Amino acid sequence: MASAVLVLNCGSSSVKFALYDPESRDRLLNGLAERVGTPGAAITIKFPNAPLTISDLDQTDHHGVLARILDELEDWRAEHDLTITAVGHRLVHGGEEFASSVLLDDEAMAAVERCSPLAPLHNPANIAGVEAARAALPDIPQVGVFDTAFHQTMPPVAYRYAVPTEWYADLGVRRYGFHGTSHRYVSSAAAELLGRPLSELRMVTAHLGNGSSLAAIRDGVSVDTSMGLTPLEGLVMGTRSGDLDPGILGYIADRTGATLAEITNDLNKRSGLLGLSGLSNDMRELIAAVETGNEQAALALDVFCTRLAKYIAALAVPLGGIDTLVFTGGIGENSQPVRARVLEQLAFLGFELDHDANERTVRGLSGPITTADSRAIALVVPTDEELVIARDAHRLASTTTSLLES
Ligand code: AMP
Repeated sequence: MASAVLVLNCGSSSVKFALYDPESRDRLLNGLAERVGTPGAAITIKFPNAPLTISDLDQTDHHGVLARILDELEDWRAEHDLTITAVGHRLVHGGEEFASSVLLDDEAMAAVERCSPLAPLHNPANIAGVEAARAALPDIPQVGVFDTAFHQTMPPVAYRYAVPTEWYADLGVRRYGFHGTSHRYVSSAAAELLGRPLSELRMVTAHLGNGSSLAAIRDGVSVDTSMGLTPLEGLVMGTRSGDLDPGILGYIADRTGATLAEITNDLNKRSGLLGLSGLSNDMRELIAAVETGNEQAALALDVFCTRLAKYIAALAVPLGGIDTLVFTGGIGENSQPVRARVLEQLAFLGFELDHDANERTVRGLSGPITTADSRAIALVVPTDEELVIARDAHRLASTTTSLLES
């Protein structure tokens, strides 16, 4: 019987899932449960030949939804002679507790719980997903893959904020960084593509999606990043502000009477490209609007690209220069105008854009977008966080199984 790895990404009201073949690394199927925990809960399973939507759920919480997904997969798995040998969970915040992926035993789960105050919207939902998977598949190893883990190699000079020391010591206020699974994957894929060891490259990886962050990678490890205690810091994003003067919070509270929770919500959900353009958080829509002369969309695009270029240049400091820049994420992989504007602003760092290569490189394609003579190389590498989770889960589950057998 062939093995399959189940990858789960559980949010408070959604469960994304996928099954991977750990040998070929192919995704066998995937799906999504939405409105989890409400009477409108529904599951869509994208079976290769006939997608299935289920909305008659008896139990709509994470346990009920996952049990039903596994139930629906039963016949298909039997038909394909597949058995689930590991479950990989995407977990958001591992704080200072986790510097790599781990088997989720009771001790690890207690540590994930301890990180919940750092991500109160995400970690509890992730934990509910792990508990549901443990209940449904009690004999199968569960593995946690953290968004923050890759950045645990950052030195204090990169991760400490200039705030009272007890904020850090007692409350964990420091920069953690996110999108670590993506930065880890694209940095090693880029080195492979260039045929050079990661240890030789002073690399910045730019994960540009609805959420966006940068990582500075030296000797293959993260030495700095643009996101902070939460994913709000750094670049301009779809609906998040990125960096701003913290004094704005008190000013808005005084002027409008808004609570801190309301202001934080505005900074997360009504800012960024959406806030600036007043139109959309979607880069495709903004670029289309710029082409029809929409000035607010043009300003949003300018602010997005200029903040990005400034931040990339800043990461030359911890790296001692930049020789490789990797674009990934929905915008990084697909938006030629964003890549072109950023590289044009970074010409002083040695990037020379290859216009034709840039135009050609979209929809899952990878490769360089700078000229052969360019002193620094920029390239596009499609990310695949799910595959990394499947690979880590398979690797850690196989280690446990062989330990148990020896
Ligand atoms: P992600 O969060 O990685 O799925 O990325 C979402 C972002 O990618 C959105 O802002 C989309 O507008 C953007 N995106 C996806 N496809 C394209 C495209 N063809 N051109 C420009 N932006 C794109």
